[in-house]
Amino acid sequence: MAKDVWVVAEQRAGEIKKITFEVLTEARRLADQLGEQMCAVLLGSGIGGLANTLAHYGANKVFVADDPNLEKYTADAYTPIVADLVKTHEPSILLMGATSQSKDLSSKLAAKLDIGLANDCVEFNLQDGVLVAKRPVYGMKAFLEVVCETRPQMATCRPGVFKAAPPDESKTAEVVNVDVKLDPAALKTKVLDMTLTGKMDVTEADIIVSGGMGMGTPRVEGFSKDKPAENFYILENLAELLGGTTGCTRLVADAGWRPGSEHIGLTGKQVAPTLYIACGISGAIQHLAGIAASKYVAAVNIDPEAPIFKRADWGIVGDLFKVVPALTEEVKKVKG
Ligand SMILES: Cc1cc2nc3c(=O)[nH]c(=O)nc-3n(C[C@H](O)[C@H](O)[C@H](O)COP(=O)(O)OP(=O)(O)OC[C@H]3O[C@@H](n4cnc5c(N)ncnc54)[C@H](O)[C@@H]3O)c2cc1C
Repeated sequence: MAKDVWVVAEQRAGEIKKITFEVLTEARRLADQLGEQMCAVLLGSGIGGLANTLAHYGANKVFVADDPNLEKYTADAYTPIVADLVKTHEPSILLMGATSQSKDLSSKLAAKLDIGLANDCVEFNLQDGVLVAKRPVYGMKAFLEVVCETRPQMATCRPGVFKAAPPDESKTAEVVNVDVKLDPAALKTKVLDMTLTGKMDVTEADIIVSGGMGMGTPRVEGFSKDKPAENFYILENLAELLGGTTGCTRLVADAGWRPGSEHIGLTGKQVAPTLYIACGISGAIQHLAGIAASKYVAAVNIDPEAPIFKRADWGIVGDLFKVVPALTEEVKKVKG
């Protein structure tokens, strides 16, 4: 009979991603309610030492698949390994983060194992031992309750929604080394190179300073109309000072002013920071859909009628090219 709650952990360059701690914490809660074990699956190359970290977040058992062919994620290599583990051990629940990597992996697992998938969930409940997954639709205007009739009940968790418990370093886990049998010649995809920007991902940030098309309309000397991308340094300065990161609207990413990885919204990333600072962003519903889970929103816009002010907890009507540098100076004073 299917039992135990499983988490597919995510690591990059030998570091466990923050979302994994959030998923482990939620999985631990569910496992405790069910009176079952919580197990993690970790794939990568040279990652055995990370099993302890997963134990600190509540994993009772960690399956470690360590192989040079698993160094960088590819669906080709990861899917059969997780699928085989699932077939052998038959977990009842299988959770992972709603990240680009795990959304890819979970959909491949759903197809390979012929099981259901509840994507991008924001809440889980148990009813008679069955997982009821809550997921937002229509830009968080409505919620679906999803029950998977197949096993394992697979779901991905929206980053930033489930708060990670503090690690308990006294906790240990049983480590099971997975015998990886991969034929490199049979892998259809190969990641040749990966460039890490060193920047915090918007889905992991607690503070996001985000820019819209207003970044391209300076009326203040010293900023460029022709090269709007260069104006973004004022947002980067403020973000760095606050220990956060930068984000943008779709139009900004489409214009090539910022990388696509910063695109927030319905068709971009969904974020859940404590503070979202929207600069020169009108507040279109497709953008608001991506920031709905933010705790506080502050907006700077020259137009008092801009829809972003309806969502904002604090609003400043003014020219962002004057307001953002002034705000940065004030933060500097406070920080000493
Ligand atoms: C199917 C679909 C999916 C979409 N998905 C997304 C998505 O995922 N994410 C997303 O963001 N958009 C998405 N969009 C686009 C969305 O509808 C909006 O067009 C977009 O969000 C607007 O971006 P913006 O706020 O940067 O630009 P604008 O709407 O042009 O707003 C610019 C704002 O800057 C202000 N401004 C100008 N100059 C200054 C200044 N000096 N100081 C202060 N304020 C200033 C203006 O008053 C204005 O409010 C989608 C659209 C469609 C149709």
